[in-house]
Formats: sequence, C-alpha cells, structure tokens
Amino acid sequence: MLLSPDERGRFGEFGGAFAPETLMPALSELETAFAAAWADPSFRRDLDALLGSYVGRPTPVYRADRLSELLGMDLWLKREDLAHTGAHKINNTVGQGLLTTRMGKPRVIAETGAGQHGVATATACALLGLECVVYMGAKDVERQRLNVYRMEMLGAEVIPVTSGASTLKDAVSAALRDWVATVENTHYIIGSVVGPHPFPWMVRELQKVIGEELRSQMDGSAPDRPVPEVIVACVGGGSNAMGIFYPYAADPTVDLVGVEAAGHGLVTGEHGASLVAGSPGVIHGARTYMLQDDSGQVLEAHSISAGLDYPGVGPEHAYFKDSSLARYETATDAQALEAFHLMASTEGIIPALEPSHALAWIMRSRDELAGKTVVLNLSGRGDKDVEQVASLGF
Ligand SMILES: *Cc1c(COP(=O)(O)O)cnc(C)c1O
Repeated sequence: MLLSPDERGRFGEFGGAFAPETLMPALSELETAFAAAWADPSFRRDLDALLGSYVGRPTPVYRADRLSELLGMDLWLKREDLAHTGAHKINNTVGQGLLTTRMGKPRVIAETGAGQHGVATATACALLGLECVVYMGAKDVERQRLNVYRMEMLGAEVIPVTSGASTLKDAVSAALRDWVATVENTHYIIGSVVGPHPFPWMVRELQKVIGEELRSQMDGSAPDRPVPEVIVACVGGGSNAMGIFYPYAADPTVDLVGVEAAGHGLVTGEHGASLVAGSPGVIHGARTYMLQDDSGQVLEAHSISAGLDYPGVGPEHAYFKDSSLARYETATDAQALEAFHLMASTEGIIPALEPSHALAWIMRSRDELAGKTVVLNLSGRGDKDVEQVASLGF
C-alpha cells in the first residue's frame, strides 16, 4: 500500500506533474519549501496556534440524535461547518498562506469558481498581510456577486476572466499564466487536492487534521466516544474527503465512502462523477480520473453544488479507488436537496449542498448502515446555498 506520493509525486499510476517547463522550477521549489516547513516544529507551532485561535479547531464531533433515530443508525457529524468562514477550505489556505510568508513571497494568487476558495484565500491573506489576486470567470463573477464583495472587503483584487467559456477552467488558465510570469514573488494557492505535484500531497497534509482530530475524538475510550465503522464525505476535488479519510486509510476496520455528484443523473451525462463515471486522463497537471469525450476533450461537469461541479478529482482518490482503500458512490441533485431539508429540519443545522450529497447516500443506504456508527464529514454550512435552494421553490 502506498500512502504518500513517490518521489515523482505519483500515487500508483496517478498524480505526477504535467506542467509547462517554465513552471517546473517553481513546483520543485514549492516541494522543497513545504517539506522543510512541515518538518519544522516552529512552523507547526505557528500553524497549530492559528488553527486553534483563528480557525476554531478542533471542530467538534456531534451525535445527531434525531437523525440517528430516524435513520436507524448511530450517526455523528464532524463539524467543519463551524470552522471560520464556514467550511474546511480555511485549513488549506491558512497553511499555504503561512508557507508563502515563510518562502518570503509577498503575493498570492488563486482561482475560484463559485468564490468559496477565493474567500478562504482572501481571508488567509488578510490575516497574514499578503497581497491577494483572485482570478474568476466573468460569468461566475456575475453569478456570485456576494462572494466577490466578500473578497473585495477582505482586501483582495478579483480579476474577471473573459476568455473561453468565462468559467473556472478559464480562471485556472489565467492564474497559471500569472504564475509563470510572477513566480519569483508569488505563490499560487490551489484549493483542493488537485493539480500537479506537490499540490495534492501538500493540501492533503494540511487537511488531514480533520481525520486526526476525529481519531482522538472517537477513540473508543468511553461509551460516548465510539470508534467509527463508516466515514462518509462528499468528493469534488476531494480535499475534505481525503482530509478525513487519510488518517484511517491503513485501518481495515473503517469503511471509507466518497460521494460524488450525480447531477441530473449519471445516464444524462450531466454530472460531476469523475471517479464513478469518468476515465483516467490528464487534467490540470495530474493523471487522474476525469470526465472526457472519446478524443480526450474535458467535458463540462454539472452539479447543483458549485463545490462538486468539477470534471476531475484529486489523483490520490484515483489511487484509493483502484486499490479499494475507499469506495465511491453518487447522489443526484434532487437527492441532495432532500437531504439538505432533512438535516435542516431535523437537527437545526443547515448544511452546505456539497455534504448534503454525502447525507443523501447515507439516507439511501440505511439498510446497509443499520445499527452502525457512521461519521458524516459536514464539510461546510449552507448559508451560502439558502438563496439558491429557496429559488428552487423547496
Ligand atoms: C469546496 C467545497 C467542497 C468540495 O471541495 P473538496 O476539495 O472536494 O472538499 C465540499 N464542501 C464544501 C462545503 C465546500 O465549500
């Protein structure tokens, strides 16, 4: 079993660094810098201090009593929705922000789709006094006004990208062009366990705090601290899922289930299920499962939740799938909406639409899960989704 990338940044046959020659020195510099920081107790102390007093870690685990009773299982929530800015993304951006400072770079760039990663990046940059530029497709700027205002209030500059389809893919290209020209003084903060090595490894290391906390919070030492039997997380790029899975990957007693977006249904082709319904190829600098047509062109993904609307997935998940370290399932838009409403009305917690997919799979699998101790990674809160759900007429 391979639980770290090899020296070429590969997880089995997946991963690697498929990037322009001009970026190779930057990627290699980043790998060295992160490895040194991660092994340096003073960096870890600084990061842990921020995670404690700024991000609000450790996030609690909460036993969902009413949902447990309703579904006939012992259901727990890992409360990433209670982290600062309302989701797990801040774990990654604060870590990479601190690394940027350590590398002596004054400027950060990021790409964002719906704006969640942009907001988390702008937050970390404000905290650390870093200049922040966020590339965002012009269409997304129109659709996500509120997040654009948020980023601007946090001191970031948002640059609308009008090339191509004016969405996330084009924002990634613009950010990469910027990085090639500015790498001397700029770090590029990628928002999930995707992209070329060392990003999937680095982001996983920064997110694995979720699973490490869970291990100590549910360690079997008391009746109210049972050991998880099944851990379920939604998978977009895969960072919240890998963050909670990784510390359990070598543990055969715990089943790991990743839930992708089936959108309008897998048969319609309008979905975001790269692992379940895609095939191996190269996307955004890494070999992994992706949505592509017969000639290898990247297909559009679809999901009701912006965070799952991505045609690729982190390469370590591709490896986990092929080596059966985790299993991957799907939930449709409609199923996720139903789960969203059930959690809100049963537990008084409005979940983000992304982890609502994971709950939807749990609801569908209640027979298989009957009586088991199940942990749902509640990756974020649903305040950002309330308007969208209301506009669908419930
Ligand atoms: C961005 C986001 C996701 C998807 O990203 P991953 O890298 O797959 O975790 C999931 N949940 C929430 C709340 C998000 O904001």
